[in-house]
Amino acid sequence: MHNITDFLKDPRIAYFSMEIGIRSDIPTYSGGLGVLAGDTIRSAADMNLPLVGVTLLTKKGYFRQDIDEDGNQIELPDEWNPEEYMVQLPQRVSVFIQERQVQIAAWLYVVESITGGRVPVLFLDTDLDENHEEDRGITHYLYGGDQAYRFKQEIVLGIGGVRMLDEIGFEIKKYHMNEGHSSLLTLELLKRYKRDIEEVWDERLIWDVERVRDLCVFTTHTPVEAGHDKFDYELVTTLLCDIVPIEVLKEFGGQDMLNMTLLALNLSDYVNGVAKMHREVSRNMFPGYEIHAITNGVHTYTWTHPHFKSLFDRYLPGWANEPEIFVRVGKIPDEEIWASHMQAKKELIDYINETTQAGFSYEILTIGFARRATAYKRADLLFSDIKRLVSIGEGKLQIVYAGKAHPKDEPGKALIKRIHQIAKELRDKIKIVYLKNYNMDLALKIIAGVDVWLNTPQKPYEASGTSGMKAAQNGVINFSVLDGWWIEGHIEGYTGWSIGGAPGEPSDPIREAEDLYGKLQNIIIPLFYENRPGWIKMMKNSIGMIAYYFNSHRMMRRYVTEAYIR
Ligand SMILES: *Cc1c(COP(=O)(O)O)cnc(C)c1O
Repeated sequence: MHNITDFLKDPRIAYFSMEIGIRSDIPTYSGGLGVLAGDTIRSAADMNLPLVGVTLLTKKGYFRQDIDEDGNQIELPDEWNPEEYMVQLPQRVSVFIQERQVQIAAWLYVVESITGGRVPVLFLDTDLDENHEEDRGITHYLYGGDQAYRFKQEIVLGIGGVRMLDEIGFEIKKYHMNEGHSSLLTLELLKRYKRDIEEVWDERLIWDVERVRDLCVFTTHTPVEAGHDKFDYELVTTLLCDIVPIEVLKEFGGQDMLNMTLLALNLSDYVNGVAKMHREVSRNMFPGYEIHAITNGVHTYTWTHPHFKSLFDRYLPGWANEPEIFVRVGKIPDEEIWASHMQAKKELIDYINETTQAGFSYEILTIGFARRATAYKRADLLFSDIKRLVSIGEGKLQIVYAGKAHPKDEPGKALIKRIHQIAKELRDKIKIVYLKNYNMDLALKIIAGVDVWLNTPQKPYEASGTSGMKAAQNGVINFSVLDGWWIEGHIEGYTGWSIGGAPGEPSDPIREAEDLYGKLQNIIIPLFYENRPGWIKMMKNSIGMIAYYFNSHRMMRRYVTEAYIR
């Protein structure tokens, strides 16, 4: 059993995130943001970095996804039992929400690395006997409920989180906000470090803004205006009591609405986007702010399939904790790369055939597409011209889909339904499956088991994207629109293939579909079936030119040197 006092000896970086993907069976994440948070913490543990994670317990999870005969998504509760994984600490803190005191407890989960490093993660919980029935539910559902529910969660996370760290006895040297959901923490810090001066000629002098800014690091993930978390001040003042005067809040969080991104931007000394293009997009959205770029990465050990793990162990010892070693991927014989890939592919295809009876084949070029089902990800770009797809791919292609749509995202649900219907129509020509309940375990299975990883986001909505990096850890080749991280990872014909126009050019779906079909027909399908050595060379380039760099160890070293130690 872990003793919390072990973690209190030295000052730590507090890493706040609304969702953290710790492991597949703790369903407190919905997609890329949460999995990135998990990878961040896993790398910190490997590297022995002094971090402490703070998130919500969300005891009823995000949701478990079923899909009926007609392709309708069915959302089932995904309850889990915290006691199986963590212990509740004795400390209690409270926040005032709508004039009621809400008590908060924290559960301690410890992420342990094989290097011996450990990172504690606090899961905040309001489901306590002493709380009002309504308040007990605040930490039940990830991204559930209405605006008021969301804002209450953000009060618990941001303000409650800072208070809990303090109550337990953590000394915090930086507060890192992973996206704006936790940016109310800046207000708690403003209040805490208020200057003690008796007579001031300017009321604003009592707020030690510089000190708070010095303590805060903010990573933004949202590339479009509409995506930022915003709240009506009427709602804000009803729910949030006793923190800072409304004029102060408006000065930092925006005059018309409380914009959580703006609040974090104004009160953080270091701000970054999650890829180079995303920095440019963010600078245009928020002119005048200094915004840096630290491109995301994935946790190499977590996202490497067991068959590749043992291959890398044989030829590139030390790879897991120093992914730079992948530059020497050329040491691995081609046959062994292919054999490991075929083992991972066989495992996926057996899973598909067992769960769906689709009759997938080991030998056919397999395309994977799995991520949150939401409109901008355009899961159906591949079906822009179904006749053409059939003429190119009949007998030569099979396609695996997966992904959840947010319960309120109707266009996202419609995408699932559309793919489901097309899969039925094309059954005898091109085999297509939509696997249920995408989560971290299924992600690894699909990502490592396909031949090509497809991504077709509408530009500039893909701030970074990380699933393609996971594919590269397993020698799977990326075929994607030039947005987010892929702009930095792509070298045409070496590390993968692009779809559509140059980086920064707006999406043109007709041109993108044309490019998608053209490259499939003229480059990708011939290379796969007629030039296996050429194919394996690109698999090796994915490992040696992408995986060596797009990992969370490199990302964390940059956060340490550029954001945490300044
Ligand atoms: C990696 C991952 C994502 C992110 O995928 P993108 O294609 O980068 O959006 C989403 N969900 C799960 C379960 C993942 O593992």
